[in-house]
Amino acid sequence: MRLTGGVEWLLNVPGLTVSTSIARAVKTSFDEEVAFLSKLVKTKSANPYSPTDSPLHEAVEGEVPTLIFEKLREIGLSPRYLGVSRERPNVVAEWGDKRGRLSLMLNGHMDTLPPESKDVVSPYSGAVRNGKLFGLGALDMKGTLAAYVFAVKALMAAKVKLSGKLLLGFVVDEEAGACSNLGTKYLLEQGCVPKACLIGEHGSQYVRVGQRGSYRFKIITKGEAVHTGVSAWERGEKGHNAIVDMAKIIETLQGLEVPFKQSKLFEGRRPVLTFPTRIVGGRAINVVPEQCEAYGDVRLLPGNSDAQVKLLLVEKLVKLGVPYELIDLGYAPAVEIDPREPLVLSLQRTAKQVLGYTPETKVSGPGTDGWMMVKRDIPTIVGFGPDGGGEHGRGEWVDLESLRKVTEVYARFIYDYLG
Ligand SMILES: [Zn+2]
Repeated sequence: MRLTGGVEWLLNVPGLTVSTSIARAVKTSFDEEVAFLSKLVKTKSANPYSPTDSPLHEAVEGEVPTLIFEKLREIGLSPRYLGVSRERPNVVAEWGDKRGRLSLMLNGHMDTLPPESKDVVSPYSGAVRNGKLFGLGALDMKGTLAAYVFAVKALMAAKVKLSGKLLLGFVVDEEAGACSNLGTKYLLEQGCVPKACLIGEHGSQYVRVGQRGSYRFKIITKGEAVHTGVSAWERGEKGHNAIVDMAKIIETLQGLEVPFKQSKLFEGRRPVLTFPTRIVGGRAINVVPEQCEAYGDVRLLPGNSDAQVKLLLVEKLVKLGVPYELIDLGYAPAVEIDPREPLVLSLQRTAKQVLGYTPETKVSGPGTDGWMMVKRDIPTIVGFGPDGGGEHGRGEWVDLESLRKVTEVYARFIYDYLG
């Protein structure tokens, strides 16, 4: 912990250090934090869309932005909505010295994945049992959002002054593939640009300093529909089977390797192309299929790009001679930052004070909006948050003890980095 002056040492309760005051404040507000998280989880914000069909004028995040806006106002901040439309608003707030040399954004998404299947019992429960809070998004990542808000509240209660600027960015449309134009990218384009960023995806064992990228695509083949009983089909004069064409493409693309350069942080990993992951085609059992669509997913390492993968696909398929259409469904490049960034060291240091161990640096699998920051040379941590289990709808829960500790870590981290 760093002290900025004698005044901060003596806080509202004489004789208390800043860290004790922060811990105390987090504890005092924790029931309120849990109640707020429960409300967030009960408020549906399931995002079933992909980046290509995410609607501008449907309130996918529901009332979640409003709840966060109101809570930020309640704790004494002046939040604002900053979004492409009224229905898809991001929520941002600033605190600290606006002209400070340093700035830090705590960024998190307000949407969740849709419930996995119908057999999941009440995904919007928000109930607390045995020290766990249950429900879709409790872990990914509404718990983190609540921790951001109450970390700031604790710092305010501890009467801490920051010499840098803290930005809170609650964004829409991340679960659609972490490559949306509506969320983090929109904030950056609107000038909401921090000098460093934390995206507190769950898990307090590691500080995530990089993430794999992804490229998703769809291939369409076209045929000619004809009833299988007609003689023109029997004689081979009419009809063309789009699924058979797709089968040829599928076979050709099996085992396709994407070249890469081994990076230190991603040691032992390689890009992975999976095709198909989903397939749609055919109309009826007695009709020759006129169209087939198959989806592909590619996991990328630093240095790989969508253009590189597309070129590989085209090179392979051109020899096959089957007509097809290739459609992009989303691209997020892999990124990594220096594990010795001051931002990383600050989080490790403050986490150790609260948790008793230093979370190691590691890279992660699932993508976040973090690449939008790193590609703009903004050092970004893409994961450090509360612990829990069953993420993505399978009885998702967050551990409340861990949530309280992480809230305290966030508060100390903000103060350590910007204090
Ligand atoms: Zn997430």
